[in-house]
Amino acid sequence: MSIIDYLRKSLALTQAIIALVLSILIALLVSGYSLSLHLSDQRDEAFSLAQEILTAAEGGATNAAWTLDPVLAEQIVASMTALGMVQDAVLTGETGNIIAADRKPVQEKKYLIAWVTSNFIGDEILGERKLYIELNNEMRQVGVLSIKLNPTPLAQQFLTFAGSVIITGLLQAVTIALVLLWLSSWLLTSPLRRVTRSISKIDPENPDPRTLESLTIHATNEMGQLVNHIQQMLKGLISAQEQLRNLATRDPLTNILNRTLIADRLSQAIITAKRNHSKVAVLFIDMDRFKTINDSLGHDVGDTLLIEVAHRLLKTLRSNDAVGRLGGDEFLVVIEGNNELSELMYVVQRIDETLTLPYFLADREIRTSGSIGISIYPENGADTNQLMRCADLAMYKAKASGKHWHFYAKEMSDKVEARLNIEAALNYAVEREEFHLNYQPKINSETGKLVGCEALIRWNNNPEDISVEGFIKIAEENGSIIAIGNWVLETACQQIKRWEKEYGGISVAINVSARQMQEDNYVEHVLSVIKKHDVNPKLLELEITETVLMKALDKSFIALKKLRQHGINISIDDFGTGYCSLSYLSRLPVDILKIDRSFVSGEQPSTAVLEMIVAMAKALGLKTIAEGVETQEQKDWLIQEGCDYLQGYLISKPISSKELEEKFLVNLN
Ligand code: C2E
Ligand code: MG
Ligand code: MG
Repeated sequence: MSIIDYLRKSLALTQAIIALVLSILIALLVSGYSLSLHLSDQRDEAFSLAQEILTAAEGGATNAAWTLDPVLAEQIVASMTALGMVQDAVLTGETGNIIAADRKPVQEKKYLIAWVTSNFIGDEILGERKLYIELNNEMRQVGVLSIKLNPTPLAQQFLTFAGSVIITGLLQAVTIALVLLWLSSWLLTSPLRRVTRSISKIDPENPDPRTLESLTIHATNEMGQLVNHIQQMLKGLISAQEQLRNLATRDPLTNILNRTLIADRLSQAIITAKRNHSKVAVLFIDMDRFKTINDSLGHDVGDTLLIEVAHRLLKTLRSNDAVGRLGGDEFLVVIEGNNELSELMYVVQRIDETLTLPYFLADREIRTSGSIGISIYPENGADTNQLMRCADLAMYKAKASGKHWHFYAKEMSDKVEARLNIEAALNYAVEREEFHLNYQPKINSETGKLVGCEALIRWNNNPEDISVEGFIKIAEENGSIIAIGNWVLETACQQIKRWEKEYGGISVAINVSARQMQEDNYVEHVLSVIKKHDVNPKLLELEITETVLMKALDKSFIALKKLRQHGINISIDDFGTGYCSLSYLSRLPVDILKIDRSFVSGEQPSTAVLEMIVAMAKALGLKTIAEGVETQEQKDWLIQEGCDYLQGYLISKPISSKELEEKFLVNLN
């Protein structure tokens, strides 16, 4: 890079050079001027010196000229040339005759001195004095005394002085140039360089005004204003880019995702689901009667309705679900990770409910609804297009059936419908007295005597012929288990009381769900029901599964402890299927372990597991009961292993209270 190129690129260097040259020029001019003044002073001094010398010698010289005393005359001129400055001294007489003269030999001058003398001082500095005496009151000239001074010392003096003046001037100039350079670099070029550097760091694709360094000491001056202006420009750029991005990704009317982006979100969701082996649900929503509303009430009302629909959808869904508008009155919702059909069903129901609520538009109430078509990855399609097409088809089915929603796979629609039927029926089943309890006896394994029974719920008007486990699970999910559980507790307590009166005490066990245990006042509720029916708490047993216990260990622990303090028996149901460790078990306030059916009548009854459970229970002072005893062989084996009680089809299936009385209670004593 040549120096010119370098100068072009560096403002600081250019500034420095200009400042240096200018200050040198100024220094030279100023020194030149002061030297010329000095020179003229020196010359004046030299001339006055010559006059002084002449004045000093005037008296003697006049005498010598008048008396024509050559010895005196010689002495006088010699005394004058003895002075360093004086080159020549001549005394002439009245007629111009030389009385005495003395001249020092002329020394060769150095070039610089010769140059200075010839150009600035002059080769000769002459002085002359006419000599007079007074005769008869008249002045009479008797001669002339003249001297010539040597300019060399003057020139030398001048050169020394000039040297020091020029050097000081130059030093000053360089110092000033350096100070100016530092100042301008501190004030101007270095902040400019910082601003340039931070501007170069800004990514034009994704500008961030924070990247721009703010200059604290320049906040209010032109430099600060420059930075402010650039920041403003960047902000403008960002908002312009955002608007562009919005235009590209958002639906301009509703501001939710547009067709391109919702399709993109769906394909992303498919990729994630493939990796995680999870599901994706696609909901194709079309508003019912939209065309009529639009045509009769105007497009403005139609637009407002669509905006409201988008708003309601956004409010109903979770933040990680995606909502987009495909165009017209069609919306698409993508829901990730709902592996349980029931969970998805709740979302669909919520959407249906929110879209069916009345709309207040243009001062009137408008009623409409959405038709929702649902397809599911991977069951109904492996890619975006296929899933959207299936959801679209399902939406037409939903519209045609007038049922608001439809799954692409018919069996799913059927499943969901069945489930909704069950849920609806469950909500009223207690009120409509559709439940009853069956009782399954438990016997002492050694004596064969009845020790109690387990109350098992039965649903008379079961709409879908669902299993007990099936409807209990749904009741747990939709919360109706609380009412059902209360009914079971009440009914079992009434039964205990009745049997106590008629046959002496018979222990009855009821099954308790997780949801019930989580109720804040569960313990108080159980105690109040016992009190209400005046039941001996020792005759009530609560069966709680391991999983329920482990779900809310601390809460269950406190609740069970209180219940047990009141005399209620606690057993762990389906023991061995959960993960209850020995250390937990030893702390849990329980009385009985109910060994799960799978260890007794399952495909591989395990002696090792059974032996271990029985030994563990004995060590902890707990009783054991085996459930699902179906054969004599199993019974013998269980007795041999030391299991305390038995329950199962071999003894009896769950039977009505009446049957239990007839078969087991009448000949109890
Ligand atoms: P669980 O508490 O383990 O009840 C035992 C289940 O095993 C009962 O099924 C019973 O009929 C069945 N069973 C009894 N002996 C045998 C046998 O020898 N072989 C076979 N294969 N099965 C036998 P059920 O009545 O259908 O109840 C199923 C589950 O439903 C119960 O399991 C319990 O978890 C739940 N459940 C039943 N009634 C209630 C209730 O009132 N409240 C709550 N929360 N859950 C209940
Ligand atoms: Mg049970
Ligand atoms: Mg069980």
